[in-house]
Amino acid sequence: MRTTLLPGATLGVMGGGQLGRMFVHAAQAMGYRTAVLDPDAASPAGLVSHQHIATGYLDEAGLATLADVADAITTEFENVPADALRALAARRPVAPAGDAVAVCQDRAAEKAHFGASGVPCAPYAVIETPEQLATVADDLLPGILKTARLGYDGKGQVRVADRAALAAAWQELGRVACVLEKRLALRLELSVIVARGADGQVVHFPVQQNLHRDGILAVTEVPAPGVSPALAAQAVQRAGAIAAEMGYVGVLCVEFFVVDDGAGGLALVANEMAPRPHNSGHYTIDACDCSQFEAQVRCMAGLPLVAPRLHSPAIMLNLLGDLWFDAAGTEREPAWDAVLALPGTHLHLYGKTSARRGRKMGHLTITAADAAAARATAERAAQLLGLPPL
Ligand code: ATP
Ligand code: MG
Repeated sequence: MRTTLLPGATLGVMGGGQLGRMFVHAAQAMGYRTAVLDPDAASPAGLVSHQHIATGYLDEAGLATLADVADAITTEFENVPADALRALAARRPVAPAGDAVAVCQDRAAEKAHFGASGVPCAPYAVIETPEQLATVADDLLPGILKTARLGYDGKGQVRVADRAALAAAWQELGRVACVLEKRLALRLELSVIVARGADGQVVHFPVQQNLHRDGILAVTEVPAPGVSPALAAQAVQRAGAIAAEMGYVGVLCVEFFVVDDGAGGLALVANEMAPRPHNSGHYTIDACDCSQFEAQVRCMAGLPLVAPRLHSPAIMLNLLGDLWFDAAGTEREPAWDAVLALPGTHLHLYGKTSARRGRKMGHLTITAADAAAARATAERAAQLLGLPPL
């Protein structure tokens, strides 16, 4: 039997990035103590946690210390070695489990899991050998070749038009295990975040619509303007099925493509999933009565899960390091004072010490009484920050 961990207990997290930082903030707000394991002495989460264990993810002494101090452990990024989570699970409750995280770490395993859950994904082929490369079906082209492991923000992906380009791309990616996905004509992209407790109860956040620029999430909007209630319900049902199929405990985000179904309607295609809170769910901090990070706390602590409610329409703008440079390439601080003069703006900066182009430095959530007002304010904020129009 799992016991409930009440405030006062210590919650541990593998990884000290911005997701870990927001998790720590949520846990501390509820009265928990926190411990972060991350090798970086200046990690965003380590800087705000009660304890920071600055070792590698597979360091035995570091893992032993985390298990000593933390009453339950979670993860904030999917590339933490699954074996580290499995080792921790011998001593403490770990949610999500190492096995579930391992599935999310590998695009081939992930797609197989979507299939096992009865959820369609884009047509694909696994490419691990020259023979598999040579026998790829023609109808997967034009496609996108993605490394099976360690890709994020569009990294480790090459768009390929034909067989020659495919062969060159596999070479360029170092002939590592890849999946080739058929390139789909996307009508839009959405994602849904579910939280599943150890007792199998599932709650979900509202479905969010996402806009990517250069393979990186740029804008999230809720309620999703292009998504009918029926399509949203289907996304929620499928995310729940994906979680249930692996006995998942914790917060899970599933990204979907929306495509034409060939009969005048829209169809959902699963893209990928993340075994943790997700960038597209950051709006839940300011626009819902329970954030995705509070849900993560509740799952790992064995607290009740209550259906989250969106209390304000919201738009989130990702703040990448590009904003910290002017046209001449000189470093500057964005005009936060002007942005914060707009009503309903919520600024979140992650405490990263240096800005780089494409690096996620923070996000801005805009809430308003109605969607049109949120959009108008978001347009104005984007303009002040030098972001493209929404
Ligand atoms: P992240 O982990 O940051 O979400 P990622 O690097 O894992 O990103 P994907 O989610 O696989 O990458 O792809 C990034 C974006 O590229 C998608 O959100 C979508 O806009 C586009 N894309 C990916 N696969 C396809 C596809 N099969 N057809 C059309 N567009 C695609
Ligand atoms: Mg993605």
